[in-house]
Amino acid sequence: DVSPTQKITLPNGKTLEAHTSLFINNKFVESIDGRRFETINPATEKPIVSIAEGTAADIDVAVDAALEAFEKVWQHVDGKERGRLLYKLTDLMMRDMEELGHLEALDTGKPIQNATGDVEDAADVLRYYAGWADKIHGKVIETSHEKFCYTRHEPIGVVGQIIPWNYPISMLSWKLGPALACGNTIVLKPAEQTPLSALKTAALIREAGFPPGVVNIVPGFGPIAGAAIARHMKITKVAFTGSTTVGKNILKAAADSNLKKVTLELGGKSPNIIFADADLEQAIKWAHNGVFSNTGQNCCAGSRVYVQDTIYDKFLEQYKEFVLSKKIGSQYEPDVYQGPLISKVQFDRIMSYIQAGKDEGANLVLGGDRHGTEGYFVQPTIFTDVNESMKIMQEEIFGPVVAIARFKTVEEVIEKAHLTKYGLAAAVFTKDVTRAIKISNALKAGSVWVNCYNQTDYNAPFGGFKESGHGRELGKYALQNYTEVKTVQINLDMKR
Ligand code: ADP
Repeated sequence: DVSPTQKITLPNGKTLEAHTSLFINNKFVESIDGRRFETINPATEKPIVSIAEGTAADIDVAVDAALEAFEKVWQHVDGKERGRLLYKLTDLMMRDMEELGHLEALDTGKPIQNATGDVEDAADVLRYYAGWADKIHGKVIETSHEKFCYTRHEPIGVVGQIIPWNYPISMLSWKLGPALACGNTIVLKPAEQTPLSALKTAALIREAGFPPGVVNIVPGFGPIAGAAIARHMKITKVAFTGSTTVGKNILKAAADSNLKKVTLELGGKSPNIIFADADLEQAIKWAHNGVFSNTGQNCCAGSRVYVQDTIYDKFLEQYKEFVLSKKIGSQYEPDVYQGPLISKVQFDRIMSYIQAGKDEGANLVLGGDRHGTEGYFVQPTIFTDVNESMKIMQEEIFGPVVAIARFKTVEEVIEKAHLTKYGLAAAVFTKDVTRAIKISNALKAGSVWVNCYNQTDYNAPFGGFKESGHGRELGKYALQNYTEVKTVQINLDMKR
């Protein structure tokens, strides 16, 4: 390595060494122009460490490394060996779970127990894909007796992956797992707000024994390093998780460059529909977690809650009490439910949405202000008396803000549920199984939850309808994103 680690002191006095530079060809290196930026602890607004900033020139170097690794080494490595390396990586992540958890907690602001849980989830995802690595194969297709026809599922080549800051280590695992299992090499850009857990994982990737160049991790800013990935001529597939606006840019850049394949996991404005016959106590807890978990910074947040009119008042009263029972605080305070927002930019954005809600005449029944004087904390905020023409009912807020509306009939609520451009997730609470199934069928969303919320499982696909994205991640479905299908036809008896 030509770039040393930096020491981080935790609030408990313990220290850890963080990698803070680019990871290319299994080495930690400075960026070509030597630029660095600071990553901030959102609970204190203070810098944690400085990080090497990759630009287009660094992306070029990383892509060349990935291409050479693909052509000379990785495409000749058997699935069994790829799986063995991925299993090794998950073991190392579990070994260093605590350290990864601290890095994740400091960088994102989330409570340490949640951050550590995310690391465990990420290891689960990678272990699941380790299992797939030796089970990827084509089919024999019976075309005619005069031919032998089969398909091969081949890796695509160099894959670019751009991930967000809300679940950094999880998003890294959703991206790396299927891409590596299928035999691709990777240039991954973590979000500029949260590079630390990705760089620690890079060190573990090297320790696990992955050949140089198979995984390259280049921190940097979206419009610079991210855009360089999206338009790169030697990258043949890009996977992106983030906002719908940036997703559109990536699709355009892919079309304008080499028509690289694109998968997108984008924003949402998910409806959560609660019928009068639901278990009220359960519905309140799930509906609360549905929108306020991870401080509302969750692409599938159930930010539009529709409650049937006969239980509306009771629901609202108990929901408010439940919200108020949850503690706000920084990573290491005990029993904290809600941490800060990720950045000043997001803090200002969320506050401007709250202002828009007030300006458009929604009724602010709880919260609406900053919490405390230090850190990007916003009070959990509830609006009622909303309608579908309001900004706070149309746009993804990505913060601790919920809009609660009433409805009377099934037809009415389904129609309203569909009045946004998004289609990531939806939920319905009812004890009537027929109604639950019919509404699940009707809802235009990639995930529908019945009597629960925010369920992602590493073997169940996840992705969006409408402007919430292209393609599916997780499960067997994600493998389709990372292979090219080749059809081979062999002449047995045909003569001309
Ligand atoms: P968010 O609003 O959650 O920050 P973004 O879509 O802005 O979501 O960011 C998600 C990821 O996309 C980050 O890694 C960010 O750096 C990257 N990104 C932002 N803008 C661009 C862009 N123009 N091209 C490529 N990547 C980008």
